[in-house]
Amino acid sequence: MHSPSALCLPEVLAPAGDEAAMRAAVAAGADAVYFGLKDFNARARAKNFDAEELGQTMKFLHEHGVKGYVTLNTLVFDDELESIEQAIRTCAKAGVDAVIVQDFAVAKMTRAIAPQLPIHASTQMTCTDAGAIEMARELGAQRVILARELSLEDIATIRRSTDVELEVFVHGALCIAYSGQCLTSEAIGGRSANRGACAQACRLPYDLVVDGQTRDVGDRAYLLSPQDLDATDVVSHLREIGVAAIKIEGRLKGADYVAATTRLYRAALEQAGHDVPTLRDAAQQAFSRGAGPGFLSGIDHQRLVEGRACDHRGLLVGSVTGIERVRGRDYVKLRLSRSIRRGDGLLIEGGRAGEGEVGGRVWTILFDGQDVSRAEASSSVLSWFGPDVDVGLAEPGRDVWRTNDPALEHATLAGIERSPRRTRMHVRVSGRMGELPQFFARTDAGLSCSVEADAPVFEASRGGSISDVLREKLGRLGDTPFELGELEIDLPNGAMIPPSSINRARRALATALSASAVRSFDVTTISWRKLVEQAAPPDRPPPAKGLFVLCRTLEQAEAAVHAGADGVYLDFLELVGTGAAVRALRAAHQHVEIGVAPPRIRKPGEEKIDRYLASLEPDMVLVRGLGALRDGDSSRAMRVADFSLNVTNRLSAADVLSRGISAFTPSFDLDATQLERLLDSPFGPFAEVVVHHPMPLFHTEHCVIAALLSSGKDHRDCGRPCDKHKVSLRDRAGMIHPVEADVGCRNTVFHAAAQSGASVFHAAIRCGVTRFRIELVREGAKDVERIVSTYRDLGSGQLDVSGAIRALQTEGGPGVVRGSLRVLQA
Ligand code: SF4
Ligand code: SF4
Repeated sequence: MHSPSALCLPEVLAPAGDEAAMRAAVAAGADAVYFGLKDFNARARAKNFDAEELGQTMKFLHEHGVKGYVTLNTLVFDDELESIEQAIRTCAKAGVDAVIVQDFAVAKMTRAIAPQLPIHASTQMTCTDAGAIEMARELGAQRVILARELSLEDIATIRRSTDVELEVFVHGALCIAYSGQCLTSEAIGGRSANRGACAQACRLPYDLVVDGQTRDVGDRAYLLSPQDLDATDVVSHLREIGVAAIKIEGRLKGADYVAATTRLYRAALEQAGHDVPTLRDAAQQAFSRGAGPGFLSGIDHQRLVEGRACDHRGLLVGSVTGIERVRGRDYVKLRLSRSIRRGDGLLIEGGRAGEGEVGGRVWTILFDGQDVSRAEASSSVLSWFGPDVDVGLAEPGRDVWRTNDPALEHATLAGIERSPRRTRMHVRVSGRMGELPQFFARTDAGLSCSVEADAPVFEASRGGSISDVLREKLGRLGDTPFELGELEIDLPNGAMIPPSSINRARRALATALSASAVRSFDVTTISWRKLVEQAAPPDRPPPAKGLFVLCRTLEQAEAAVHAGADGVYLDFLELVGTGAAVRALRAAHQHVEIGVAPPRIRKPGEEKIDRYLASLEPDMVLVRGLGALRDGDSSRAMRVADFSLNVTNRLSAADVLSRGISAFTPSFDLDATQLERLLDSPFGPFAEVVVHHPMPLFHTEHCVIAALLSSGKDHRDCGRPCDKHKVSLRDRAGMIHPVEADVGCRNTVFHAAAQSGASVFHAAIRCGVTRFRIELVREGAKDVERIVSTYRDLGSGQLDVSGAIRALQTEGGPGVVRGSLRVLQA
């Protein structure tokens, strides 16, 4: 379908959290930048840009031949649709080159309100296979930002199957969780990562707990904190594959980081004439937690999470060889692998979770007893960190990192100031003797204009080259964003134009070119209100009522049925067992609905898992990803859209229900009020509400189990410790969070305690909801029966809410939590 051209360079796409970063990106050679408005983007902590100034921002970018993409990539709630409409209109009026969206509603509103405004599907949409890409296309996307968990091979496979533009992250922080699937911040603090307010729980220390016992893993504490991504080594492959853009993460980072990383990828793409290793060092010095190719080079569970640090360390510059007291001061003896300078910020690594870490600026460097301002690589030096830093804990053998290099930072920013990027303005001058000459200007990025000079062409009385005069006068563009590019002259021999007229023509050209950088997209009069009115549930009866239980073992399923569940979904670690369980349950309980739960993530080639599960002829199937939503399946099962599709508003619910879906699961990002507002609509009867579940915090490609209990890279050489052990992670508060793998070896870290929606149960029923779901993780049969019975009794009125919550508390267990719904605590 797609024939990649090796000649076609992908866009270098840089982040801009504020104006300084945007200017740095432009000056450093970005083809495009992405940035957020003050609302509705996945980096609420960045400064972001004023909507009122968006027109000026886009003018600046277009004058410099740079595209600007605006992030509207958060989930939205019904009461935010009006402001999203305004944001879309603002973007259309300012002529942004695309909006980046996550929520179906935002995509649909953009299509309806500004039909020509391009849409890019955010990485928050979790696009991992061709079906997901097609789904994004159906929502109006012309480009898809792929999930960061794909390998080069996956990307190439997807590239061959679609002509939708593909954008790939190449640098910066990696989430441990699939983007769009991290519920940790929401569950723990009500700060949603899907709403730009991630609390970075993956960067915290955890203990490993195996079969109930704490397992010593040495200095490794940050068990969920991945290294950063640095794909400079594989950029040429991405170019060959034919991706449209390579993207740098970092809207919370400063201008020096943006400049350094943009330069690096400009150079990595162009190669010739660039010192890529030096630029890479500069980029890593600006910010790095240690860097590697991430998932682009395939899965390696031993590589991604090193576990010893969770924050910026910069470049490794040497190691400690001892402490030496000189003239009353304690100096750290260093063996250097890179040069250091006085004033550098250094960090001497500590033990587990940074214990004993020593850091500070270098005040004094002694080399051979002499005070020096710089020491070279391979030398041994003494360094003093000033009177306030106690270096007593700096143990011999510890690595030393340079966290900050003020001279390099200064040089990076000064380089931008010295040579601000200019756009080449190519000019053609034509005319005849005695007539007013025409000046036509164009830029490589497509801006163009023409002006007529105010004085006629005349015959020069003495020698002198019109070419020299034109080049000199037209070249005086210093106070504009332009510089003179090619000059084409179509004038008779001996022709001349008055220099003052050329000056005026130049100024007029620059003004007109700048004016042509201002553009906008037409908008319709359709309002959010109209779109909501038009959004209707399907013209068919709501799905059958019942209490359904998602189980991970046959024992749980049997217990759930025994306690009166109307149906079970089987979400097992392996497929053969799923098939056996379906047969066993069907034989024993003919009245019970049996559902299957294919993995949340589907990469190229993994459709066979869905096909196998469909071949079991289940009664119900959970639809968990965009690919599965788009492609459907061959079974006649009732299709239930799961929480992972992130339905948070009526427009999204309407869209999902129009795609062969019988019931949708409201997103776990909704609090009780937002949930009730969504359910109190014509869509309520089509909802399947999860009323009890340990929140799936992180859903990750990284197998914590293989990483910590084996030396294997992936399922082929890990020895399957997941079959033998129950692995959990204990957080700083002592909560023990279970880690479960799925059929695709993806891990989910679940919250230690279950979240109960008992308090919204009756409100949901009043809204017409008839389907409820309980999700289990490791509960034994007795607990399963107790939980199922409790909700049955709550439904029948035998228990009130506080009675139900009391019944759900287990003695000595973590109990139930308010979680994202803000419910209970008995
Ligand atoms: S994995 Fe989750 S907690 Fe960590 S940075 Fe990503 S969104 Fe935030
Ligand atoms: S087989 Fe088990 S331990 Fe190995 S990678 Fe897969 S889930 Fe992890």
